[in-house]
Amino acid sequence: MIEYRNLRVALLGAGSVGAQVADQLLTHSDELAARVGAGLELVGIAVRSMDAQRDVELPAELLTTDAESLILGADIVVELMGGLEPARTLILQALTSGADVITANKALLATHGPELFETAEQVGAQLYYEAAVGGAIPIIRPLRDSLAGDRVRRILGIVNGTTNFILDRMDTLGESMEQALATATELGYAEADPTADIGGYDAAQKAAILASLAFHTLVPVDAVYREGITGVTLEQVVAARRAGYTVKLLAICERLTDESTGTDGVSARVYPALIPLSHPLAAVHGANNAVFVEAEAAGPLMFYGAGAGGIQTASAVLGDVVSAARRHVAGGPGVAESTHADLPVLPIDAVTTRYQISLEVQDETGVLAEIAQLFEQQGVSVETVQQSPPPRPLPGEQPPSGAATLVIGTHQASEADLAATVAALTTSSVVHAVTSVLRVEGLS
Ligand code: NAP
Repeated sequence: MIEYRNLRVALLGAGSVGAQVADQLLTHSDELAARVGAGLELVGIAVRSMDAQRDVELPAELLTTDAESLILGADIVVELMGGLEPARTLILQALTSGADVITANKALLATHGPELFETAEQVGAQLYYEAAVGGAIPIIRPLRDSLAGDRVRRILGIVNGTTNFILDRMDTLGESMEQALATATELGYAEADPTADIGGYDAAQKAAILASLAFHTLVPVDAVYREGITGVTLEQVVAARRAGYTVKLLAICERLTDESTGTDGVSARVYPALIPLSHPLAAVHGANNAVFVEAEAAGPLMFYGAGAGGIQTASAVLGDVVSAARRHVAGGPGVAESTHADLPVLPIDAVTTRYQISLEVQDETGVLAEIAQLFEQQGVSVETVQQSPPPRPLPGEQPPSGAATLVIGTHQASEADLAATVAALTTSSVVHAVTSVLRVEGLS
């Protein structure tokens, strides 16, 4: 029997993820000790209420409501409380006292990441956060370590399971946004207040974390352009499939080069976009997550799996616990976050992308030429034009007479040029309505 010295692990939170982490630390302690080369002793679990119902039964003597005392003397602190405070203060205290810290708290990292990483660097400790993006999916360590010798060009991520679940049901079952959201709430995929998910805020926090890592640049969450899925209609999703696309809420992180100056910048943005059905991200169904990374040397890589769930997320947290414990055994300072590139974070106006625009137009000769000219005048190049049957009228409505629906796909265009085109279309006498404008991503 090998004798190990024990490392003291303090756990903050015993909710969906924390209870599973505690359970694994207690039940697999021998195996974890063998992997680390030191014992991992769970010294206590801070909770808000001693009597709360837990997903797994935990030894009562480990529970405490005194988180501050618990972290004193800990070698490793695992923060799974969520929220900004007291999580921020407790993490700062833990780092300052020399502990390595593990967190799954994307909201905290996206808001106070620089302060936390700076403190860790100053004291030679390390902050781990594999579970903060993509739940069980290993994506932080691949970006930080495995791809550290490569140059990432672009990341397209489905990083919010709730919105993917909703859009997937609209696409595959023909449900409306309201029906799909109600099912998501019923099955526990959506919170009672779903704003963070459907408003794109959760995805924006993850985009900030991914962009910072991938481009060695501090990307604040406020600099992430964000649109949620609330404006996506079933008609758009149906039309997308007919045209060979599916609608996904994407977190996009991209390194952009200004051709005129040769300088690079970073774009981080979240919006619902069309992706071709042939793209690997189109096959991400239900509440799953996936992160598609394009690196200069490695080429395209896809990381896929469960983006949430107590036990699944606990897997990523425990991976970090093992890494932190191995570091303690080996000694030496933690590895600081790399922000050496310090690239400018570009506004959405600097981005060019393709668009798909649906129009209801007057069905007569010459209209197509007039519309094509209108695009040309604004500097937007048309790639495809499809004519489809006009939308079915609502009950009691007269079908529009003399109307046709055009679906126009553009080449790369800037946000400004596209906005000017849409403005011109809406005032054109041959256009009855601009019914949909969606960006297209994932085309080479
Ligand atoms: P949760 O179920 O709400 O659990 C939070 C835990 O923290 C509870 O045990 C709660 O105590 C405790 N707590 C909250 N405030 C506290 C305070 N002031 N003092 C002491 N204890 C406090 O949360 P979760 O779903 O496990 O999520 C934890 C973290 O993981 C969050 O940052 C979340 O964003 C992240 N995350 C979660 C998932 C997931 O699938 N759930 C996936 C990825 C990342 P009581 O039990 O006594 O109320």
